[in-house]
Amino acid sequence: MIKKGNINVQTENIFPIIKQFLYSDHEIFLRELVSNAVDATQKMKTLTSIGELKTDISKLRVEVILNKEEKTITIRDNGIGMTDKELDKYINQIAFSGAEEFVNKYKDKDDKNSIIGHFGLGFYSAFMVASNVEILTKSQKPNSKAVKWVCDGSPEFSMQEAKKKTKGTDIILHIAEDSEEFLEESRLSQILNKYCKFLPVEIKFGTKNEKIDDPKGKKDKEGNIVKIDKVSDNIINNTKPTWTKRPSNLKENHYKEFYRELYPAEFNDPLFHIHLNVDFPFNLTGILYFPRLKNNLEVQKNKINLYSNQVFITDNVENIVPEFLTLLHGVIDSPDIPLNVSRSYLQADSNVKKISSHITKKVADKLSSMFKKDREDFQKKWDDVRVFIEYGMLTEDKFFDKAKDFALYKSTASKYYTFDEFLNNVKEKQKNKDGKTIFLYTSEAIEQHSYVKAANDKGYEVLELGGPLVSHLISKLESNNSDVQFSRVDADIIDKLIDKDEADVSKLSEKEEKKLKEMIEKEVEKEKFTVQVQNMSSDDVPVLITQSEFMRRMKEQQQLSGGMNMFGNMPESYNLSVNSNHPLIGKILSEKSKKTRSKLIKQVLDLALLSQGMLKGEDLTGFISRSVSLIK
Ligand code: ADP
Repeated sequence: MIKKGNINVQTENIFPIIKQFLYSDHEIFLRELVSNAVDATQKMKTLTSIGELKTDISKLRVEVILNKEEKTITIRDNGIGMTDKELDKYINQIAFSGAEEFVNKYKDKDDKNSIIGHFGLGFYSAFMVASNVEILTKSQKPNSKAVKWVCDGSPEFSMQEAKKKTKGTDIILHIAEDSEEFLEESRLSQILNKYCKFLPVEIKFGTKNEKIDDPKGKKDKEGNIVKIDKVSDNIINNTKPTWTKRPSNLKENHYKEFYRELYPAEFNDPLFHIHLNVDFPFNLTGILYFPRLKNNLEVQKNKINLYSNQVFITDNVENIVPEFLTLLHGVIDSPDIPLNVSRSYLQADSNVKKISSHITKKVADKLSSMFKKDREDFQKKWDDVRVFIEYGMLTEDKFFDKAKDFALYKSTASKYYTFDEFLNNVKEKQKNKDGKTIFLYTSEAIEQHSYVKAANDKGYEVLELGGPLVSHLISKLESNNSDVQFSRVDADIIDKLIDKDEADVSKLSEKEEKKLKEMIEKEVEKEKFTVQVQNMSSDDVPVLITQSEFMRRMKEQQQLSGGMNMFGNMPESYNLSVNSNHPLIGKILSEKSKKTRSKLIKQVLDLALLSQGMLKGEDLTGFISRSVSLIK
């Protein structure tokens, strides 16, 4: 017996605390122990590279061995190992972080970044799933003796000399009764696949004591096929994932293959990617992919995986990267992001902030260079990246400043404009009385077709602006450009546009207009429609239904944020403009038969409702039979 004693912890019994509070996710014990094992092999590389150790480092590997019969999981490495003194220091005095000391000692020498030392009480997480833990270790240092350490989950441990042929460390977990799920091969395999898929050293996963039929078909005396130990040699990881390679050595298809490796269930190829590679002032590598985005934002989040030195940490990067970037897919790997700390702490961390704004800048730069290099191609991709870019513009001012130069606006004639291009294009023609340039748009080119056509016929260009974010984006653009006002094609602003060619004057007298207004008002719901007689062109529709741009937008925005409120509860209200110059309106006015007149009014009103998509059910049926009778 070398030593018997109490583990140097402040509280009497730390293990229940570890078990209950430290990690809500018990499965991460495997991440911690495999990371330690990987560290131990990485340290070998460091020591041999500076000549402190002369051993063969070509076969470094970590093994995870499941023994169902004995109910153990062993994590084995052929790394640096520990002497009895080291074990005492690093394991018994758990307040000490061995990795930190190692990094301090060798920080100027080699790749300190390959040491995963961020996990705090890493080793002790074993007690989340094990009732008893053994360490069997033999240091690489010359003349070292093997040591065995045993602890049953109380602060008491024992440490003694032991026999071990090979150098390195075995951590043997005797799995507790309440954690037997971890003795399932499929469960372990799933955990390894989640956390260890891209570790830099080969990880082998095997099951011990499982018997299988002799593959050569050898038989015993009774003629039964001999059972032999199942030897599995499954390397479960890719030690050189694409993001760790130099971009100059990679081709487009490498990135696509890696995307499929990350998301085997994903059907579509990504649109394009960004390879991140920063050394200073923080360390960051990774690949971000642009997926094809549909309009539903929520379901596409949480596809970015965060790694620290190739160890998977989380796929929830909220508060680590700006919200709109969570729509991207891919991998971010940084040893500079503090782990195992609360999310609110993360938000305030200065490294996290720097990383965040760096990624935002890279993404904007990539989009900008794509736009400049090959605009046609960028336009082709526009529909798929639009939601992402709009989301970014709305939520990150820095992104807005860059994106305003490459964000595109598509017209109903399938032309693409930047904001400034469109402004220059329509500035002369589409001004209202206050001198503001009106950007006409449609949110539904098909439903609002008659309005789009009416605007086009007047020579106005109409933008297609649909999707969930449009009303917010428009408000933002208007507040940034005080000389521009957006107006949907069916909004009440359109008829206020100055039309230089047709300075229409009414053909009706004031008295006639008043009479007309009364006639129409009798036929419509008063609360819903405000009737006004207007001088439009005789080519225009007889009656035009429009809605307040302001009210509609308020309603849309509140629907999006899911709130019930004053605007959401307001009744629908529309403007009904009667075209005093239209021949049909003239006919209505001069019609002598009351019955025919009422029929005609109903007919023009229904036509207006129809082009707004507002004529439904019984009213639609009534319109059809009335139309038939009118034609007869
Ligand atoms: P951390 O990894 O954050 O330092 P741990 O509790 O996981 O904390 O480990 C404490 C120390 O024990 C490590 O820094 C390392 O020096 C040593 N250690 C743990 N596992 C191994 C291993 N498999 N081989 C060699 N040393 C190890």
